[in-house]
Amino acid sequence: MNTKNIKAFGTEAIDTPLHAMQIKRREVMPHDVEMQILYCGICHSDLHQIRNEFGHTMFPIVPGHEIVGRVTRIGEQVTKFETGDLAAVGCIIDSCGHCEYCEEGFEQFCDKGVTFSFNSPDKYLGGATFGGFSETYVCNEQYMLHIPETLDPAGAAPLLCAGITVYSPLKHWQAGPGKKVGILGIGGLGHLAIKIAKAMGAHVVVFTTSPSKVEDAKRLGADEAVLSSDHDQMKSCFNKMDLILDTVSAKHDINTYLNLLRPDGSVVLVGLPPESLEISAFNVVHGRKSFSGSNIGGIAETQEMLDFCAKHHITADIELIRVQQVNEAFTRLQKGDVHYRFVIDMASL
Ligand code: NAP
Ligand code: ZN
Repeated sequence: MNTKNIKAFGTEAIDTPLHAMQIKRREVMPHDVEMQILYCGICHSDLHQIRNEFGHTMFPIVPGHEIVGRVTRIGEQVTKFETGDLAAVGCIIDSCGHCEYCEEGFEQFCDKGVTFSFNSPDKYLGGATFGGFSETYVCNEQYMLHIPETLDPAGAAPLLCAGITVYSPLKHWQAGPGKKVGILGIGGLGHLAIKIAKAMGAHVVVFTTSPSKVEDAKRLGADEAVLSSDHDQMKSCFNKMDLILDTVSAKHDINTYLNLLRPDGSVVLVGLPPESLEISAFNVVHGRKSFSGSNIGGIAETQEMLDFCAKHHITADIELIRVQQVNEAFTRLQKGDVHYRFVIDMASL
């Protein structure tokens, strides 16, 4: 396999800060598209993974899975992209393509296992796949997305993971007119969930641990915002919510939120606290309530989400940084000090 050396930012160990390194990318194969990366978002999953909080990190690691760039080269069989197109890569860059889940567009549940854009076994080069904190990306055109030219490319980058991760469950659980939808945790995922649920027509109620985000939630489009430590405000929401989308990244009490659901309501977890969460039987049995989860979204649905966001003028509120600021950004992300997504300007690499 022909490869080329490119610049990247990554690390060899949990306790080593991210730094400049060289990695290999494959040259385009007949169905591949190569892009020059313009912007890459920083997701809390990147932070979980560089710290090996899920226990399956393959070092060295180059994070980044919210990738927007310009197409620089296409393989001879490529039909969906041309050089110069604005394109994107999210979490998924390969799957078997034939199992019942892939055929239905749920590549994220592929029977044979999906290949993620970083920290997955690389079947062509060996070792791990390297993510978007880098100069270029190469993958099969089936897993690459089109970014509508009307979207700001830097603000669109977080849609590739945060956007689809909240769009997919909001659609599946039918957030829309007449529904009260709670959004729990206002970080990268949560702030996009407010905008998307609102665009779907739902009545949006935010639950946050941060006093400063109560007012800001309304600016982002929420109808109501509740400080979760305020007992009286929480009590006023008992039995009111049809759906609560939980984006919290650390261990927290789910039972509190099950109590806010109407009968037949659902708390849907997309956050990935590394620790187990406990649920009291009475909190789901009484009111026939559900506790569920959702994992990113398939490729076709990701394109649908990008087109939906273009139609509704939705992008992330971002803090644009240079790649050399990435360690500081991870420290701030850990503290919840981000409004509301860091995006790296890859020209700084
Ligand atoms: P983020 O920007 O750090 O936001 C997480 C938010 O959770 C924080 O802003 C904070 O909101 C709240 N929070 C943090 N610690 C908390 C605690 N101890 N108790 C209560 N609330 C707390 O993270 P993100 O990038 O949005 O990602 C959120 C989670 O989703 C991460 O675990 C990430 O790995 C996961 N994720 C899952 C998928 C999937 O497919 N399922 C995809 C992407 C990301 P407030 O200040 O408003 O309380
Ligand atoms: Zn992510």
